[in-house]
Amino acid sequence: MEENNEKQLNFLEEIIEKGLNDGTYKSILTRFPPEPNGYLHIGHAKSICLNFGLAKKYGGKTNLRFDDTNPVKEDTEYVDSIQNDIRWLGFEWAGVHYASDYFEQLYEWAELLIKKGLAYVDDQTLDEIRANRGTVTSPGKNSPYRDRTVEENLDLFRRMKAGEFEDGSKVLRAKIDMAHPNMMFRDPIMYRILHAHHHRTGDKWCIYPMYDYAHGQSDSIEGITHSICTLEFDIHRPLYDWFIEQLGIWPSHQYEFARLNIDYTVMSKRKLLQLVKEGYVSGWDDPRMPTICGFRRRGYTPESIRAFCDRIGVAKRDNIISYSLLEFSLREHLNKVAQRRMAVLDPVKLVIDNYPENKEETLTAVNNPENEADGTREVPFCRELYIEREDFMENPPKKYFRLSPGTEVRLRYAYFVTAQSVEKDADGNITCIHCTYDPATRGGDAPDGRKVKGTIHWVSARHAVDAEVRLFDRLFAAEAPDEVEEGKTFLDNLNPDSLRVLKGCKVEPCIADDIKGHISENGVAAPHRFQFERMGYFCTDPDGDESHLVFNRSCTLKDSWKKA
Ligand code: ATP
Ligand code: MG
Repeated sequence: MEENNEKQLNFLEEIIEKGLNDGTYKSILTRFPPEPNGYLHIGHAKSICLNFGLAKKYGGKTNLRFDDTNPVKEDTEYVDSIQNDIRWLGFEWAGVHYASDYFEQLYEWAELLIKKGLAYVDDQTLDEIRANRGTVTSPGKNSPYRDRTVEENLDLFRRMKAGEFEDGSKVLRAKIDMAHPNMMFRDPIMYRILHAHHHRTGDKWCIYPMYDYAHGQSDSIEGITHSICTLEFDIHRPLYDWFIEQLGIWPSHQYEFARLNIDYTVMSKRKLLQLVKEGYVSGWDDPRMPTICGFRRRGYTPESIRAFCDRIGVAKRDNIISYSLLEFSLREHLNKVAQRRMAVLDPVKLVIDNYPENKEETLTAVNNPENEADGTREVPFCRELYIEREDFMENPPKKYFRLSPGTEVRLRYAYFVTAQSVEKDADGNITCIHCTYDPATRGGDAPDGRKVKGTIHWVSARHAVDAEVRLFDRLFAAEAPDEVEEGKTFLDNLNPDSLRVLKGCKVEPCIADDIKGHISENGVAAPHRFQFERMGYFCTDPDGDESHLVFNRSCTLKDSWKKA
């Protein structure tokens, strides 16, 4: 917040401050208006942070409004997940509203427009309506039903509501101007007939309002001062204002900002639903999905997502943000809060030949060098350990500072060891590395001041716990998955290697205790998160439990994608 104040105001903050200063409004009320037809994605998170963030900054409030005007695609499952995700992000709404709560009022207003001669029932098919709409350079054609009398229109509209007509046989249109330069004004459709069950109003309605007719009026009913939406709605704004003006109702106003796009992913709910339905991912919360629940399962924190949204700011022009920036925000937060643990993902055995067979000791390890208050823990040590297979090379190139025959390295928090020999299987794979240790280097430093170039992590083979670890790459191989040649779809851009499952990983035994109990973040279940030293940030996955540990890699310690 403080950081915010020092920053230059964005254009929305400027508008709000001006309105507050000149007394246009005493306090502000924003809204977040998702359609409950899918799970929220990171683009929605941007909108949430903006709407709730502005209200918070200026002492106002934010409504959550479900824009549930399309019964066919909507479901209560989505309503629940949306509330969950907003809460998890750390925001609270003033009220929960549904556009469907306003169906009666919207209907009355539609009758009012008919009575004012500003709306009519059209019997043209949707195809005819589209064909007669004209183009940007040519005017449209008036519907043959455009001049129906007020009485006839009222009668037909009431019968539409009563269910007398079939889907698609009639619509209610605003009567504006079929030659208007803004296509939105060419008699926009206000209502369509849909004999469909609605998740809240049941079978009460068989006519449903269109977005342009419902949205502004809903804003007005709630007294929304700033109706913030994405840029593609700027051509809708004059129509938004037109309805409010004709109805003479409370004037809410619409403002547009650039939608968030991120490289190597898709962000339309329709496409995300397709990925789920057709099994390309394990669900809406698959850790590779750009959904909020996907990021949560991946190990993202609410703080990291809010910091990301803050960092990208509010733009007036569309752009594409790099996925790396999300990871940067995550690393920045987890570096401060994640407990460090040791885990070996691709284990190979290391035997310390001069360490007594039956001896076991505990060594002290720092939990988080960024936060002294997190203290230390005891890590068991014995003659047989596991180290990362890639931390040993029989014939190392220059500048390889890890373990190799004859070189001495530090085992993190433990001792200096020197590799002596290896055992191999029939195929020549190393099955065991033999080494010797220097007992004087306990804790990781040599009393004679001698230095080693490498430090590697390890776990005690006798004490380690088995784990499954899932590593992720980008879900799509193309920077802009939506841009495809003829005959191809975004699915052709899926990355076939976006998931790698490692079995038989070995983790420090205390992790079994660490993950006991449940984490609740703003009232929502969240994973346990760790930094596995040198390997990245990881979190528990709900597929696992205390007897079968499963971890997701949230991100690596450094940006590993830049170099490509
Ligand atoms: P989608 O195209 O993914 O289905 P939508 O805009 O139809 O998205 P809604 O549920 O209608 O989804 O969106 C709710 C709110 O979130 C709207 O105010 C919308 O402008 C905003 N929003 C949606 N996508 C983005 C995005 N990528 N960046 C910023 N805001 C977004
Ligand atoms: Mg929408």
